[in-house]
Amino acid sequence: MINSSAFQGKKAAYFTLGCKLNFSETSTIGRLLGEMGVVTAAKGEPADICIINTCSVTDMADHKCRQAIHRMVRENKGAFVVVTGCYAQLEPETISRMEGVDLVLGANEKARLIQYLSEAWTDKTDEENGLHRHFSVATKDIKDFAPSCSRGNRTRYFLKVQDGCNYFCTYCTIPYARGFSRNPTIDSLVRQAEQAVAEGGKEIVLTGVNIGDFGVSTGETFVELVKELDKVGGVKRYRISSIEPNLLTDELIDYCASSRAFMPHFHIPLQSGSDAVLKLMHRRYDTALFAHKIRLIKEKMPDAFIGVDVMVGTRGELPEYFEETYRFLESLDVAHLHVFPYSERPGTAALKIPYIVSDREKKLRSKRLLSLSEEKTEAFYARHIGTTAEVLLEKAARGKAMHGFTRNYIRVELPSSQADEALDNQIVTVRLGDFNSDRSALKITL
Ligand code: SF4
Repeated sequence: MINSSAFQGKKAAYFTLGCKLNFSETSTIGRLLGEMGVVTAAKGEPADICIINTCSVTDMADHKCRQAIHRMVRENKGAFVVVTGCYAQLEPETISRMEGVDLVLGANEKARLIQYLSEAWTDKTDEENGLHRHFSVATKDIKDFAPSCSRGNRTRYFLKVQDGCNYFCTYCTIPYARGFSRNPTIDSLVRQAEQAVAEGGKEIVLTGVNIGDFGVSTGETFVELVKELDKVGGVKRYRISSIEPNLLTDELIDYCASSRAFMPHFHIPLQSGSDAVLKLMHRRYDTALFAHKIRLIKEKMPDAFIGVDVMVGTRGELPEYFEETYRFLESLDVAHLHVFPYSERPGTAALKIPYIVSDREKKLRSKRLLSLSEEKTEAFYARHIGTTAEVLLEKAARGKAMHGFTRNYIRVELPSSQADEALDNQIVTVRLGDFNSDRSALKITL
């Protein structure tokens, strides 16, 4: 039984680290607490409840999580502090021992946050009052799927279509932190998309850990999901947050090319452009397959924006393998590289690979790829200057320029003199002008 009176009038503060999926889940936690009568604390106002949704993708992420917990505890004296997310699943005991932390919820438990809070606040004694408790189950027992479809900070909705991963790439801890791949039914996701439309949503980003694996729990497929979601008329735009190249089927690319609302925008993790390194990583494709996917997308959707994840300095990445990666990326018609340095994760199979890349070398390699990425993004944007595009505008602070994105993910800037709250979440057709002052967007006027 939930003790709803315990929630009434309480103020909550949220802090999220990590991926879009985490942001979407925090947003859902906020909505659920809101339904119980909890309000979000204004900036700088002390909160009664702090929710910290953590990430554990690198050593640095773990460090930032600990810093965030210390800061939240310090800034919200006496608040009930809850830590959840990937780092909470992997290190529940360490976190629960941290000063000021009351409750740690692992991957399977976060869906039942309200219940845990209600129980903690209803208990009589201090010991039982949730202080320093942690709840998490072993990875193999993470079975629950916490549904989530929420409006992010901006205009977009994030619809979680899948969670967990069965791939066990040698460098990755995500399968340990989020459990095995699982998903809800297509029907339930269609209903959530319809609800987002009813709330005024126009753009939905499909999120998950390994989205293309959708269907393992329900016997459905990702392309079937895409086709059904496309029928939800009120949604003007869908984006797929990221999809493994081996799961980005030719059928899916074909469908997106002629679909009503799936945008010509793809984000595909490559990780390395060397087949030898891909093997060490236990990735399930080679560079030939990756190049085929890029060619097919560009053949069907010449203006598509393609972003690519690349990891540098993984164990085993000899200098010649990095050079192969550089040349491979140079040859691809993609618009952006999301570059991140490899970080050693406890318990991963990659630790058995003997060749280690120094931090200094990792930095140099990252720098080269970042500068290649800048060239590619600039060239992609420059090709569109002078063309006409549909833009979905996003809310801006008073007196500030408004931003938005074209169908193919070019960021645009509307000057502050034309910014208007009434334009928030509106789709307008504009001519794309030159670069803005910091070259992060193309200028538009109405
Ligand atoms: S596909 Fe590989 S990198 Fe991606 S979440 Fe699964 S194990 Fe991690």
